[in-house]
Amino acid sequence: MTVTSSATSNDLPLLLEQVEVVLVDRLSPSFVRVELGSPALAEFGVDGPLYDQRIKLVFPGTDGVPHVAGVDEAAMAAWFERPAEERGHMRTYTVRDVRGSGADTRLVVDIVLHVGDGPLGPGAAWAEQVSVGDRLVVMAPRRGVPFGGIEFVPGAADRLLLAGDETAVPAIASILADLPVDARGAAYLEVPLSADVQTVRHPVGVTVTWLPRDGAERGVAVTQAVLDHLGAPLDLPEVDEVDPDLWETPTYSSSGEDIDEAVTVVGHDLDGLYAWIAGESRLVTGLRRALVKDLEVDRRQVAFMGYWRLGVAMKS
Ligand SMILES: Cc1cc2nc3c(=O)[nH]c(=O)nc-3n(C[C@H](O)[C@H](O)[C@H](O)COP(=O)(O)OP(=O)(O)OC[C@H]3O[C@@H](n4cnc5c(N)ncnc54)[C@H](O)[C@@H]3O)c2cc1C
Repeated sequence: MTVTSSATSNDLPLLLEQVEVVLVDRLSPSFVRVELGSPALAEFGVDGPLYDQRIKLVFPGTDGVPHVAGVDEAAMAAWFERPAEERGHMRTYTVRDVRGSGADTRLVVDIVLHVGDGPLGPGAAWAEQVSVGDRLVVMAPRRGVPFGGIEFVPGAADRLLLAGDETAVPAIASILADLPVDARGAAYLEVPLSADVQTVRHPVGVTVTWLPRDGAERGVAVTQAVLDHLGAPLDLPEVDEVDPDLWETPTYSSSGEDIDEAVTVVGHDLDGLYAWIAGESRLVTGLRRALVKDLEVDRRQVAFMGYWRLGVAMKS
């Protein structure tokens, strides 16, 4: 079927569209997979692999599902000014996969239920109740228009290290699926329960290790696994202060650090490494301290992303 740009409901540079839940798959105790469809998604796309492409979902508030037809940037700005409970809460997720094509394009999103992490936030609460036919709003890249939101940029690295908790599982799984067949490295995924372990596609040269907590302290297993992988004779890093907005990549520093001032240790054992680490901010802060401060890995070889903070609702 040929779909023209008239399938989309506005002229914004990004896709801001109502989508419908066309499939719900309760993958495991901690993950709900949804497929989101709309003819407007025929316009979805990025230039190259999706890797860890992030998108925004707007969950219906007391006003219902936001109307996006015909909105412009001024209308969007006015929408943001309204109370999130009324206009709908916005949260960040990863495109785990894309299925179908044209008007039948569907975005696959895996939502963590955060069981036992505190009161359910709007994202987890929506996912817990979701059924086919529900609607929400997605903000996603329109093909051919720069959108950003891909942080996985390994450059010429010959060895990859991917590590994260359950919220980073969709991104790590998507990165693994998009890697070239000759990629080399290791991925460590900490999940709440043994029952949350998934089967993921990955190059043979990248080992994938699942680390179910099964009641153990959050972040310890993945931190220890990364330190062991790097052969680092370090104790688990102590973390007193956690920046809930931690985001340190080769091109952006939430703490305002000057990336050009990064420490470069010539002839470092970890030359050629590219590390991508995401998840709960305390675990990411600890690993950042170990890699950048203790092991002196060059800031340009690492991306540390606080995907969420235990006990703190994400900004809407
Ligand atoms: C780039 C990126 C990609 C991501 N990809 C994914 C993905 O693919 N899948 C996924 O599931 N997540 C993903 N995340 C993480 C997700 O955005 C966060 O987990 C988000 O917080 C979920 O929203 P929520 O509404 O469920 O919880 P929130 O409302 O944001 O709450 C977060 C946590 O804080 C707790 N909390 C909130 N308020 C209180 C309070 N008053 N008292 C005590 N505790 C409280 C909640 O219990 C919850 O555990 C991603 C994040 C980023 C930045």
